[in-house]
Amino acid sequence: ENGQKRYEELAELDKKHFFHPSTSFKLQKEQGPGLVFTEGKGVYLKDVRGKEYIDSLSSLWNVNIGHGRAELGEAAAEQIKKLAFSSTFAGNSHESVIQLAAKVAELAPGDLNYTFFTSGGSESNDTAFKTARYYWKMKGRPSKKKIISRTKSYHGVSVGASAATGLAPFRDFPSLAPDFHYVDSSIEAIKEMIEREGAETIAAIISEPVQGSGGVNLPPQNFFKELRDICDQNEILLIVDEVINGFYRTGTNFGIDNFGIVPDIMCIAKGISSGYAPIGGMIITDRLKEELTDLTDGVFMHGYTYSGHPMCSAVALKNLELIEQEKLNENVNLMGAELLKGFQYLQQTHGGIGNIRQIGLLGAFEFFKDEESKTRYDEPFAPKVVAEALNNGMIARAIVYEGQDTLAFAPPFCITKEEVEKMISIVDQSISAAK
Ligand code: PLP
Repeated sequence: ENGQKRYEELAELDKKHFFHPSTSFKLQKEQGPGLVFTEGKGVYLKDVRGKEYIDSLSSLWNVNIGHGRAELGEAAAEQIKKLAFSSTFAGNSHESVIQLAAKVAELAPGDLNYTFFTSGGSESNDTAFKTARYYWKMKGRPSKKKIISRTKSYHGVSVGASAATGLAPFRDFPSLAPDFHYVDSSIEAIKEMIEREGAETIAAIISEPVQGSGGVNLPPQNFFKELRDICDQNEILLIVDEVINGFYRTGTNFGIDNFGIVPDIMCIAKGISSGYAPIGGMIITDRLKEELTDLTDGVFMHGYTYSGHPMCSAVALKNLELIEQEKLNENVNLMGAELLKGFQYLQQTHGGIGNIRQIGLLGAFEFFKDEESKTRYDEPFAPKVVAEALNNGMIARAIVYEGQDTLAFAPPFCITKEEVEKMISIVDQSISAAK
């Protein structure tokens, strides 16, 4: 009763003043905010009306440690009380960012040891594109400036990152950045593109290890080994976007660790702080760092006010420490196996479920009117399941870009077997109700 009243008060203000990201103007005007959240604990979120929901996607694939960890609030408070802000420009530094950079180097594969910090994934990818182009310019090859990305990729919404995003709806804006090209996710298509465009015009290729927003898509067999070779042969930098995969989401430190190669540049965000503070980064190899050092005398004129923000750094450090201490990274693989069992149960129980995939605590499956012939429903089915799930106490994620009809899952690493089972049982009921 009180909750409903409070919702209505807030909804009025929200409708008038809050320009939401990735939201329909019309729907917002007509209906106001969907859920107004007030609390979070573990895998649960609670809204202003007092109803609890399982957060099956760790919100935006980012609250990996789970909600409500007071220790992270304490780390933030301690840092702010001691040193709220100091600049990292012109070589200045502070303790938390130094320790965080060292921790990231310890976790990252190969000689990826040198991190530039940002406030999120889009900034990290923009930083990588600028760094790649800068590198080739400094090597006296300014024509190497094209950035190649894959279809169904998602790299963010800044001007550069949306230009690199393969999912068409995100690119439907006039005049995004020039010199971005998309290629189908096969090695043959990439070879053809390099042939057609000319390696001397290409700065870098960017790819997520396991695509997230595009539908939780695993790469083709041997894709990254072959891609690494192609990049080496053609003097093209390989950028790997670890914004969702990074920091244990796929059961290894980084997504690319599943595929046995080391990229030249790796972009990170989300899981580094489990969403408790906005921070991301770009990690480069020692080799690239040394080359950049040798090649340039001037200043690298790229930096955000909040590059290496003290509170964000302190929170990220504490987050990584807790995940290790509590072995939540190991729980990712254990609970990933439970998630897969759940998907298989759903497939056996309901017809029309297929293309199951799971790696760590990242998973998805697709709906078909007829699974055998892979015929889709006339209208996507996944959004109907999402609507039912909401009634049943779970926030679910449908992916319907480019003709897909997918339900995606990426629950917090602290999830228990019972909570996985509860999640699957809600999906089970919601599929039945949506039919
Ligand atoms: N890259 C990937 C793979 C992502 O999934 C995202 C966000 O979902 C981004 C980049 C953009 O990150 P941000 O929203 O922090 O700018």
